[in-house]
Amino acid sequence: MDWLYDIMRPDLRDLAAYSSARGEAGGFVPTIGIDANEMPWPPFGQIAGLLNAAGRAPNRYPEAQPAALRARLGALWNVPAENILLGRGSDEGIDILMRLLCRAGIDRVMICPPTYGMYKVAAAVQGAAVDAVPLNGDAQLDMPAVLAACRPETKLIFIPSPNAPMGHMMRRDDIIALCRARMGQGVVVVDEAYIEFSDNADGMLPDLAAQPNLVVLRTLSKAHALAGERVGCVIAAAPLIDMLGRIIAPYPLPHSSVQVALDALNPNGVVQNAERRKLIVAERARMTALLPQSPWIKRVFPSAANFILVETTDADAFMKHCRTYGILPRNRDTDMRGAVRLSVGAPAENDTVLRALGVAVPEPEKAALRMPRLFGMHRRTNETEIDVTVDLDAPGFMDIDTGIGFFDHMLAQLASHGGFGLVFRCKGDLHVDQHHSIEDCALTLGMALKNALGDKRGITRFGFTAPLDEALAQAVIDLSGRPYCLFEGALPSPMLGDMGADMVPHFFYSLAMAMAATIHITVRGDNAHHMVEASFKATGRALRQAFRRDSSGELPSTKGVL
Ligand SMILES: *Cc1c(COP(=O)(O)O)cnc(C)c1O
Repeated sequence: MDWLYDIMRPDLRDLAAYSSARGEAGGFVPTIGIDANEMPWPPFGQIAGLLNAAGRAPNRYPEAQPAALRARLGALWNVPAENILLGRGSDEGIDILMRLLCRAGIDRVMICPPTYGMYKVAAAVQGAAVDAVPLNGDAQLDMPAVLAACRPETKLIFIPSPNAPMGHMMRRDDIIALCRARMGQGVVVVDEAYIEFSDNADGMLPDLAAQPNLVVLRTLSKAHALAGERVGCVIAAAPLIDMLGRIIAPYPLPHSSVQVALDALNPNGVVQNAERRKLIVAERARMTALLPQSPWIKRVFPSAANFILVETTDADAFMKHCRTYGILPRNRDTDMRGAVRLSVGAPAENDTVLRALGVAVPEPEKAALRMPRLFGMHRRTNETEIDVTVDLDAPGFMDIDTGIGFFDHMLAQLASHGGFGLVFRCKGDLHVDQHHSIEDCALTLGMALKNALGDKRGITRFGFTAPLDEALAQAVIDLSGRPYCLFEGALPSPMLGDMGADMVPHFFYSLAMAMAATIHITVRGDNAHHMVEASFKATGRALRQAFRRDSSGELPSTKGVL
């Protein structure tokens, strides 16, 4: 703590945080909360019923530091929750660091250009002078110059890594040496806004324990696809987090943002996000290789982030040229002569950008077709443990073992007629009965299929009628986002091999809920086995139609999106 007292603004040392009524009440959860002058009813509108993780509706103040999100991020990054302070983007982290450490007109901030623009703005707002020590010829920290320029008043040194706007990683050894050199005088802030796109997703987090004056900034805005929700954080030694927590705005995060972030960070979301990041990284490599073919581009800087900095022949002319194609890159001419930054987009977007820049892109490969539609997940409850992988574009890849022979047979029907690959393992409490296993298998399969589909959920209805001897089943499916299930048909026998007949409608119901699909199944016949097999077959066939991608890469929807 002493080291922090020595470097922070002396006038803030004894500041107590704004004390909220809820905070003062400790853990007490009131039945009647009349402590915060809130309205007793939720507001008008769709969001009215939305409860946050702590069970509060929007008419109630959110948690000051949402515990569930802190814990989730702590688990994701392998840092204790007490080392994390959540705020409105990492930009708020930059702002409160300035305000905690810098006396206006006295203290100073160091940046190493080319660098992120907000450091300068936040320093100006706080009245802190900025010393700029440019990166060296290798675009790394110019250590002798940085150390020579440090003064006793230098409270903060900002280092984005991957660098913004250049995109490369900064050397860890330099950062550690700088932390050591500045201990007792200032902190070193490593801004890891893009670290998830690099080869070293841990970044500097493993060094936090040994370097008390190291601060890491992380954000959910970039790799986690949550720029609109404004969630970012400061990760640092607990005393610093505590002090920052006293000066940050009360309740910085709206509970709707917290809810969306928690949703995005659930295990399915994490898997989907990893797939998408992989695609961005592959696209980054493709663009880096192709961009030098453009007559506009003199140099392409290697990037570990989700953008590529290029040196153009003329940044203004380049920007104007792009505009005629409806493309808006970021002009970084002020950072570096001729420099323009291009975000790596979806494959189709990148193709258009490349073509606009005069690069010959192999035409027919429609971008949407390259999006992998593969999803794997692990789900474990007290009753079942399930591993599932679905690949919507790899029919025939199949390996199913749920411990219930008849059910395995039906899942195989569903996948082979559905035209998707399925690996399925379930270890369930079959000694109790089959209910948990079959229900959880349906839920997990539904979630996996929904995630594998990504945002290509069309609103078209698909149907199929399948006969099997005397039995006839009809399945109609609408991947509408509105879960509903109707199963019509009386199965004339209570058992199907080793599987209870009552579990059949329940399977389809659970699948529909988890996939957010509307499923109608009608079946008639004399033989229960035939009837059930025909139902799975018809459902598989309807799914196959729904999952199909044609070469247009367009959504099978009249609305274009859903
Ligand atoms: C985008 C960006 C940020 C800001 O992120 P938010 O969390 O959205 O505020 C911070 N640092 C760098 C280097 C960035 O590029």
